[in-house]
Amino acid sequence: MSDLRNGSIRGDDTYIIRMTLTDDIRACTLCAERFAATATTHSPRPVIWFRPSARLMIVGQAPGARVHESGRPFTDPSGDRLRDWMGVDTATFYNQDRVAILPMAFCFPGYNAKGSDLPPPPICARTWRNKVMAELGDVDLTLVVGRYAQKWHLGSKAGVTDTVRTWRDHAPRVFPLPHPSWRNTAWLKKNPWFEADLLPVLRARIKEVLT
Ligand code: SF4
Repeated sequence: MSDLRNGSIRGDDTYIIRMTLTDDIRACTLCAERFAATATTHSPRPVIWFRPSARLMIVGQAPGARVHESGRPFTDPSGDRLRDWMGVDTATFYNQDRVAILPMAFCFPGYNAKGSDLPPPPICARTWRNKVMAELGDVDLTLVVGRYAQKWHLGSKAGVTDTVRTWRDHAPRVFPLPHPSWRNTAWLKKNPWFEADLLPVLRARIKEVLT
């Protein structure tokens, strides 16, 4: 893996290789053995979705099996719910010039024995996160989705409910959110303040940032 960023390796007059950060991530196989040992025995397939021009960053957990197949983030029911929470259409959501999607691991981690997604491998954030954040630079708004992202980006040791409850402490530049998985439908029913209070403010802020 090259240490160069957006540079060239010049061995002689005819030999030039350009390597970028996204090329490095795309070529990453650090978790190959870990993934091969899961029930799906899949290979790494990093799903990369960021450009330095992005104004809004969505920090998620890790791609699910559907996203592993599509190679595009949030092409699943969780994505439908997240777009609804954000009040944006798919064209806006997938406009990489405006929106970066940066999960805590770039590859699908596989399933645990209960059929739930495994946690994002920590080696991914350790290896890539600071480099990607440096390339992205400042964004106007960050959505921090789920426990792993909240621990990394907010230093939160609390559970998701307690962290999301503190959303006013982070707004308007950062909004902690629960994972939009359909598994969290019961959570939404138990916490009606999320849809009643947080979402209208979030949608207004997103409109402001993306307009
Ligand atoms: S999850 Fe991250 S560290 Fe692991 S193989 Fe994919 S890109 Fe590499």
